[in-house]
Amino acid sequence: MPRLLRPDLRLERIVDLSPAELAATGIEGLIVDLDNTLARPNQAFADRAVRRWFDAVRAAGLKIVILSNNFPPRVEAFASSVHAPFLAKAKKPWMRSFRRALAMMGVPAARACVVGDQLFTDVLGGNLVGCHTVLVSPLGPGEFIGTRLVRRVERLVLPRIAAEERQGRPG
Ligand SMILES: [Mg+2]
Repeated sequence: MPRLLRPDLRLERIVDLSPAELAATGIEGLIVDLDNTLARPNQAFADRAVRRWFDAVRAAGLKIVILSNNFPPRVEAFASSVHAPFLAKAKKPWMRSFRRALAMMGVPAARACVVGDQLFTDVLGGNLVGCHTVLVSPLGPGEFIGTRLVRRVERLVLPRIAAEERQGRPG
């Protein structure tokens, strides 16, 4: 499996990621996906667990930007519910959007972590610009047909990555 499609870490949910531990390892900023990472696609605002997680991010002194391929009204409404800056219509894995997010935070790529639920947008884009990458399990249904097609490809690819990880083979 190409190294660029391999996340540094895999977690079930974004709220399982400890901002304090990230800060302790030298991470200074987070670039986070919205749909299926922070919220279900049909969920307009952050739930309590995610709002608490954003509080913990700020308490740890981390910068954060929500980076989404979705349209501005959806992303802005959600971002306002967690008081976070955002970039919409990001065209991930387009590198320019990740670089803009890094510039908004004033954090170099090597000290930033990208968190998302998709290999071909979040993980690929994050790896391309030299960020750390975390893949989370998608939160739920209600997503677009294009995303569903990508997931079918991901289901073919992820078992291979897992098998390679078990064997400790490099990419
Ligand atoms: Mg997503």
